[in-house]
Amino acid sequence: MAKKTRATTPEIMRSKGVYDVIIVGARCAGSPLAMLLARNGLHVLLVDKAEFPSDTLSTHLLHPPAIDALRRWGLFAALDSVGAPRLDKLVWRYQDIEVSGFPWNPYDVDHVYAPRRYAFDLMLLEEAIKAGAEFRSRFVVDDLVVSRSGSVVGVQGHGPRGQRTIERASLVIGADGVRSVVANKVGAATLREDPGKTCSYYSYWADLDKSEIEMWPGFWTGYGILPTNNGLTTVSVGFPRSRFDEVRKDAIGNFMAVIRTISPDFAEKLDSAERTERLYGMVNHPNYIRQRYGDGWALAGDAACHKDPITAGGITDALLDAEALSVAILTGLDGTYPLAQALGQYETQRNTSLASFFDMTVEAASLTPPDEPTLEYMRALQKNRTEADRYFSVGSYVLPTEQVLTPDRMSSVIQGAG
Ligand SMILES: Cc1cc2nc3c(=O)[nH]c(=O)nc-3n(C[C@H](O)[C@H](O)[C@H](O)COP(=O)(O)OP(=O)(O)OC[C@H]3O[C@@H](n4cnc5c(N)ncnc54)[C@H](O)[C@@H]3O)c2cc1C
Repeated sequence: MAKKTRATTPEIMRSKGVYDVIIVGARCAGSPLAMLLARNGLHVLLVDKAEFPSDTLSTHLLHPPAIDALRRWGLFAALDSVGAPRLDKLVWRYQDIEVSGFPWNPYDVDHVYAPRRYAFDLMLLEEAIKAGAEFRSRFVVDDLVVSRSGSVVGVQGHGPRGQRTIERASLVIGADGVRSVVANKVGAATLREDPGKTCSYYSYWADLDKSEIEMWPGFWTGYGILPTNNGLTTVSVGFPRSRFDEVRKDAIGNFMAVIRTISPDFAEKLDSAERTERLYGMVNHPNYIRQRYGDGWALAGDAACHKDPITAGGITDALLDAEALSVAILTGLDGTYPLAQALGQYETQRNTSLASFFDMTVEAASLTPPDEPTLEYMRALQKNRTEADRYFSVGSYVLPTEQVLTPDRMSSVIQGAG
């Protein structure tokens, strides 16, 4: 199945194998893609510059579509054993308003998880290897190998001892995150873009005894709570990016100041609880959707679309990308469709289905405090569990905003509560 285009990089060692697919990046996008392709008999090389298990800068909420995908792939038991608690309640709090529920979804998913990335990513990688993918850790892809006709035919990289290697494949996938080398080297076009609006900080606390996902919007800030592995609770705070230089000077002081302003009781609990890790901070949260394929290459996960973490959708989207891209590659390489047509369908399908969530995320990243009509709606949701569940389905990547938060629907919820 692999095509044999000649590349010209004579000074570099070449391996003997020619793969169907080389995947750069072995986390939420790369490992499930490798697993799904290898399960279908493709010769897959998966590489990552990281060693596993290892953490990455990210909190870890999986929305219902992610749980559904993992279940479809037969990984539900593996997910359950990763060690994060089952979470079956979301709470939104603002001043005197408290709305709780669980996102309505068509998949019968009744709980989600927020597993630590070192454990979740390792589980995905182990499943890829179990399926037959060849994995190389501490392998840095430095460049792509391009044929005389301009088609990507492989990667050039180096291993831990600096040995430079070239590997070839019919298709090279960039699942290599927000600073994707593959996207940069092929010059993938940016189809949509919105500048990063927030910076965020998070850490882990012991003994907070939290079992719910909590969201606490504030005044141009906000914080969130996610129970995770080993009885720890992740607490994250978002600030406007314009404040980054000021916030970083005393990150923990500013972090606690936001929580103290929004909920003094919880701030007091945090003050007396043990913080088990340092405060992690990040300022680079760009929002973009890229061209997803070209001659000999395709992108998945953050390499293809990156969104502000405020709606916690990147992992869910990376898993869904992996599945849709695997279908395109399998049908394209076995000749069911021309590969370019199959990859074109992948691009259209994914960019269309995530467009509304992209818009919602950009809007949420403005950290605008809820206005009075929104507060009236949220007050009404306190007495309407069915509609509260539909509201949560928007932020959970299940229903697009335009199916739930319409003026008509919101006003009928408000009237129903009156
Ligand atoms: C603060 C923060 C909080 C977040 N919280 C959530 C959340 O709660 N829920 C959620 O769904 N999403 C969240 N996200 C987003 C989520 O982390 C990403 O969307 C997700 O990790 C994307 O997965 P990926 O596989 O595409 O990329 P990544 O997870 O970035 O993996 C890319 C991999 O590629 C490898 N790589 C990169 N370049 C090379 C190279 N040249 N050679 C070899 N390997 C390479 C890297 O080592 C890495 O392992 C958050 C992000 C941030 C920053």
